[in-house]
Amino acid sequence: MPTTSKLITDPVGDPATAAPTAAGLTELDGLIARCTACPRLVAWREEVAEVKRAAFRDEEYWGRPVPGFGPPDAAIGIVGLAPAAHGGNRTGRIFTGDRSGDVLFQALHDVGLASQAEARHLGDGLELYRTRITAPVHCAPPANKPTPAERDTCRPWLVQELDLLRPTLRVVVVLGAFGWQALLPVLADAVWQVPRPRPKFGHDVRAELPATDGGAPLHLLGCYHVSQQNTFTGKLTPAMLRQVLEHAKQLAGVG
Ligand code: SF4
Repeated sequence: MPTTSKLITDPVGDPATAAPTAAGLTELDGLIARCTACPRLVAWREEVAEVKRAAFRDEEYWGRPVPGFGPPDAAIGIVGLAPAAHGGNRTGRIFTGDRSGDVLFQALHDVGLASQAEARHLGDGLELYRTRITAPVHCAPPANKPTPAERDTCRPWLVQELDLLRPTLRVVVVLGAFGWQALLPVLADAVWQVPRPRPKFGHDVRAELPATDGGAPLHLLGCYHVSQQNTFTGKLTPAMLRQVLEHAKQLAGVG
């Protein structure tokens, strides 16, 4: 049974059943935005949307699952872990409206993968080129920590997204160790073989995953997360981020 939501009147309660029915990314994104499969996350995302942060008290929060963002011919995927409570959960677009996104979109713009360096809100004109940003968990979790059960419940959405991107996707940049751990089982559920032992996360670490469908392999690239904790302390500098993105472009053959 879908969880009751104050914001969604036509809920999708079972990603495992619904995700494979999406014939394209637009359809998939529409289904994800109606998902109510995780009771704790439905309650949290809606509570945050109601209580708000003082700086945004005059805004209407999105308060729903946040789908991926980027074109269907993406050769490069960028995968974090989950949307931020006052970022994507507020604006309705992943990494949009928070400091982490400021760093990410500036770097994407610097290397020619984004039309502009700013991401403020839906309809701000931002476009990504050959790049799509998504997450293994589509709802903002308390303390930025989804439970293993929530992560597993959300998995079919990303499996289907990767399946739809399959013809062009060649590289995935994974932001942070949590995203890396969450993504590997998703890739194994899609069409790629995850090596044993599993490749370990590290900044600019690369792993190549052979395809089980006879197609091109997928390159995984690790990158420290664009969190304020990492960028304020200099653990991840803009130059380091640009370097990983340039590496991704080269591996993906994006000019
Ligand atoms: S985390 Fe995923 S599966 Fe859970 S409610 Fe959000 S979109 Fe649905």
